Amino acid sequence: MEIKLKNCRIKIVQGDITEQTVDAIVNAANPTLMGGGGVDGAIHRKGGNKILEECKQIRATLYPNGLPTGEAVITSGGNLKAKYVIHTVGPIWKGGNNREAEFLSKAYWNSLNLAKSRGLKSIAFPSISTGAYGYPIDKASVIALSTVKNFLEKENGLEEVIFVLFTAKDFEVYKQKASEIFSL
Ligand code: ADP
Repeated sequence: MEIKLKNCRIKIVQGDITEQTVDAIVNAANPTLMGGGGVDGAIHRKGGNKILEECKQIRATLYPNGLPTGEAVITSGGNLKAKYVIHTVGPIWKGGNNREAEFLSKAYWNSLNLAKSRGLKSIAFPSISTGAYGYPIDKASVIALSTVKNFLEKENGLEEVIFVLFTAKDFEVYKQKASEIFSL
C-alpha cells in the first residue's frame, strides 16, 4: 500500500525491517540501549557490534540512566543496509490510562524529527510497543499513522516513510487503519 502526502511517499509493507534499504530504520529499543528481544535483537544481531558500541557511548555520555520513554537517539547502521539506526523507547502498555498514547506518539515524532534534523530522506518503522510491551495493535497503529501524518503535514524534507509489519495480521490492521486515517 502506498499513500502520497505532499512530497512524501508513505508505504505499508509486510517484512523484516533489518532488510530495508533506507537512510534510517527505527529500533523499538528498551531504555538500556543494550539490545534485547524482538526487533531490537534482530537489529543488533544483523547490524553487528558497531551499533552496540555506539549505544554504550550514548549511555556513557548523554543518558547514563538510560533512554527515557518517548525519546530517540541515532547510531550508524553497522552492517545493515540502512545507513543509520534511530533507537527509540515506546511505552509499556498498562491499560491505557498511563499516558501510553502520548508516549507512543512522542516516540514516532522524535524519531521523525531526528531523521529530519540529520537531513535524512527515508525512514522505516516497526510497530513500536506492540510486541513485548503489549500495546494493542489496533490502538498503536492509529497513533503511528496519525503521528506520521501530522508530522508530514507540518514538516518538509522526508521523502519516504515505510511501516514494516512483521506479521500478516499487523499488516492487515495497518492497511485498514490507513484507509480510514487518510480517507482512501
Ligand atoms: P516492543 O518491546 O516495543 O513491544 P518488540 O520487538 O517486542 O518491541 O515488538 C515490536 C514489533 O516488532 C512487534 O510487532 C514484532 O512483531 C515486530 N518485529 C519483530 N521482529 C521484527 C523484524 N525483524 N522486523 C520488523 N518487525 C519486527
